[in-house]
Amino acid sequence: MDGNKTFFGAAAVPAGELSDTASHNALEGTDGAECATTGIGEATPVPITPTDETTAEYKCETQSEGDRKAIHVGLRDQVSRFKPGSVIKYISYHPGWPGGQGQLISDTMWAAATDWNSRNPGVKFQWTLVRAEAAFEVVYGGTHATAVASAFFPNEPRGAQPRQLLVYDKTFTPSGLSRMRNSFQHELGHVMGLRHEHANTSSEPTPAILIGVKNPLSIMGYLFQRSIQATDIEWLKYFYTLANGTVLRSENNTYSWPIRDYNP
Ligand SMILES: [Zn+2]
Repeated sequence: MDGNKTFFGAAAVPAGELSDTASHNALEGTDGAECATTGIGEATPVPITPTDETTAEYKCETQSEGDRKAIHVGLRDQVSRFKPGSVIKYISYHPGWPGGQGQLISDTMWAAATDWNSRNPGVKFQWTLVRAEAAFEVVYGGTHATAVASAFFPNEPRGAQPRQLLVYDKTFTPSGLSRMRNSFQHELGHVMGLRHEHANTSSEPTPAILIGVKNPLSIMGYLFQRSIQATDIEWLKYFYTLANGTVLRSENNTYSWPIRDYNP
């Protein structure tokens, strides 16, 4: 992932949301303001970009089991997850976006977060105006050769700075703009610990563990028709009911990794 980008100052409030802190705090804990959490991780740098979302064509990955449904989790030696029930707070900023699109970014990220929250996957997302309490910040990432956006997995340490969900220039093309909400849903899937639908193919350098069965229409795939699937929710909910430390095994049983819970 790129190094931390510049922090841009004034936070953006989603349109229609109350902007004063007191009212915002009052919103938390209500059914309509769901949130989730994230954590810390190993420091071993590995040259992979599993959370980059390839854009442009949203190329279709060949699936050998096209009618099966699943989610993929885990990376390297563990299955990282935010502690079940966590509220994952994020902050986005008005300045720093091409074409002054800070409000659009704020509105769209909250819409994507609400899409997940309304399905109760096991954690909740919540916007905040306070950077110090944000698990991650939404920042313009500049030019990227192939991706529209990138995120992180729960085991990425927050440290003194929020983690970053980077939005690249390709998001601001006509096709990128038209799919922004869908793209943000996908990135938030990574934040909850999900790997790509095609994680166990030659297109990804590190294996993942399958929970359930495959579904090429998963929001974590690259199909143009992808959306949050009932199976995404079903297996994500199941994943978040498992106990911290539960060992998950790969399909062929060649590797097994424990679930590790992290705080946002
Ligand atoms: Zn992705």
